[in-house]
Amino acid sequence: MKTKWDLTVFYKNEEDPKIESDILAIEKAYSDFEKKYKNKKDYLENEDSLVKALEDWDTLLGVAGSWKPAMYLNYRKDLDSFNQKADSLFNKVVNRLTVASNKILFFNLALGKIDKKLQTQFLSSDKLAPFRYYLKRIFDTAKYDLGESEEKILNLKSLPAREMWSSNQEKLLNSQTIKFEGKELPIPEASNKIFELPKQKRYELQQLLSEKLKSISYFAEAELNAIYTDKKIDDELRGFGEPYSATILGYQNNEKSIITFVDTVTKNFPISHKFYKLKARLLKLPRLRFPDRSVSIGKNSKKVSFEEGLNIFKKALGNVDEKYVKILDHFIENGQIDVYPVKGKRGGAYCSHSTGNPTFVLLNQVDSIDSIMTLGHEMGHAFHSELSKVQRPIYQDYTISVAEVASTLFENFVFEELLRTMSEKEKIVALHDRIEDDIKTIFRQIACFNFELELHRSVRTDGAITKEEIAKTHNKYMKAYLGNIFDLKEDDGYFFVPWPHLRYFFYVYSYAYGQLISKALYKKYQGDKDFIKQIEKFLSAGGSKSPEDIFKEIGIDTSKPEFFLDGLRSIEEDIKRLEKLAKSAKLV
Ligand SMILES: [Zn+2]
Repeated sequence: MKTKWDLTVFYKNEEDPKIESDILAIEKAYSDFEKKYKNKKDYLENEDSLVKALEDWDTLLGVAGSWKPAMYLNYRKDLDSFNQKADSLFNKVVNRLTVASNKILFFNLALGKIDKKLQTQFLSSDKLAPFRYYLKRIFDTAKYDLGESEEKILNLKSLPAREMWSSNQEKLLNSQTIKFEGKELPIPEASNKIFELPKQKRYELQQLLSEKLKSISYFAEAELNAIYTDKKIDDELRGFGEPYSATILGYQNNEKSIITFVDTVTKNFPISHKFYKLKARLLKLPRLRFPDRSVSIGKNSKKVSFEEGLNIFKKALGNVDEKYVKILDHFIENGQIDVYPVKGKRGGAYCSHSTGNPTFVLLNQVDSIDSIMTLGHEMGHAFHSELSKVQRPIYQDYTISVAEVASTLFENFVFEELLRTMSEKEKIVALHDRIEDDIKTIFRQIACFNFELELHRSVRTDGAITKEEIAKTHNKYMKAYLGNIFDLKEDDGYFFVPWPHLRYFFYVYSYAYGQLISKALYKKYQGDKDFIKQIEKFLSAGGSKSPEDIFKEIGIDTSKPEFFLDGLRSIEEDIKRLEKLAKSAKLV
C-alpha cells in the first residue's frame, strides 16, 4: 500500500528539464490568447465570435490553468519544508506565471463591460447556452465594478484601511501573555487550555483571560470601527445593499435563500439549548458558564490505525456505491494520499485539486478517531473534484459553499460505520463530540453572522460603536444560541477581541450552510438509498451552476426553510440518541 505521494506523475525531480519547457508552454499559451483577442472587439458584439472566444478561453484554462510546475513544487515544499531548492524555485515559477497570466485579465473585464441590452441577448442565446452560467456570473459581478482608476485607488487603500489594522491587532495579541500557575501563556494557548482544566481552575483562567482581553480591547475597538467603516465606504461606492451582499455574491449564492437559511437556523436555536442542557447533566453541573461550553465529557482513547480506518471507510463506501471504493483504491495505488506526519512536512490536512492535474490529499495520521474522520472529510473533497472532471475546464472548480457539503457528507458515512466498532462508553463520547461540532459549525457560526450584522448596522447608523457595546452585543448573541442554562459574565464579552471571523465579513455562513445541507442530504439518503444517484449529480456538477440550481436539479429547494429543517431535525435526533445512551449507561 502506498502511503506516500508519488509526485513522479508530474516530474522526475526539481532538475527535470520538463519543468522549464512546461513553463514556456504556459507562458506561450497566455501570450497567444492575448495576441488573438486583446485588440479584437467582435467577440464583444457578436454571438458566434463570442462562442469561439469562450471555447478558446476554456481550452486555455485546460492547458495553462493547471499551473503544473507550480503545483508540483508546492507539493514538494509541503512534504519537506527544508527543501530550499523547491521553495525558491516555487517562488520564481509563481512570479513568472503570475506575470504571464496577468496578460489575460483583460478578457473577463471586457466581457463585464458589454452593454446591458447585449448581455440580456447573450444570456438567452442557445448557441451560448454552454457558457450561460459563466457569463451570468461575470455580468452579475461586473455591476459592482467601478472605473479602472477608482478600482486602483480602492485596491491601494485597502492596505492601510484594513490589512494594516488587522495585522497590528494580531501583533498586539501575540505580544500578550497570561500568568497562570507560574507559567506565561500566550493568548491562543490559554484559550485552548481553559477547556482542559477542572472547574475552579477553568473559571480562574477564564477570568484572567477576559481581564487581559479587556485591557487591550481599546485597539480592537479602533480596528473594528475602522475596517467596518472602510467596508461601508466600499459597499456604498459599489452599490451593495446589505453588509453581507458582497460575500454572498462572491460565493455564488442567492441572497434571499441565504437569509432564509440564517433565519431558519436562528429560529431553531432551541435545538442547541437542548444540547447544552444535556451537556450540563453529563458534566454534573446545575448551571454552565461561558468557559464550560467546549469542555469535553471524556477522552476517546480508541486507537484506529490507518489500515483499520481505511477498511472502515471502504466498508462504509461499499454500502453507498462501489464507485467511491474504486476511486479511493485508485488514490492509494497511485500514491495520491500522503498519510503520516514526518519532520518538515506541513501540518493539518487538505485536498488539492486543479484543472488537468491529479487530485492530491495530505493527511497527518495519528491513529485516532479524528484522523479517520479527516480522511473521510478530505476524500469527500476528492470525490467531488474527481467527479466534477466531467465538466469543461471553466466549470471544474466549485464554490466554497458547496465544497463543504461534499466533505462533511462523507464524514457522516464514516462516522456511522465507526460507531458500530465502538463500545457503549466510546459511543457516548464520540456522539457528544460530533454533535458539539455540528452545534459550533451551524448554530455558533450563525450566531456570529447575526452578531456581525448588528455591529455593521451600528457602525452604519451611529457612525461608531464602543468596546463596551461590542462586548454587550457579543454576549447577547452568544447567549442566544447557548441558551438559558448559561450564566454569562459581562467580561466574557471581550472574547470578541481575538475572534478572527469578525474580520472576514460573513464568510462564516458558508460553513454552516455546507454542513447543514450535507446533514439534510444524508437524512434523505438514509430514508431512500437510491438518493445516492442524486447526490452523485451534485458531486459531478462542479461550478457549472449556482448552488441553488445544483440542488434544485436534484429536487431540493434551498429557498424554502423545510429543507434546512430536515437537517436540523437530524441534529435533534442525534441529541436524543445521546441522551438515550447516557441514560442506559446511568451517566444522567
Ligand atoms: Zn473541507
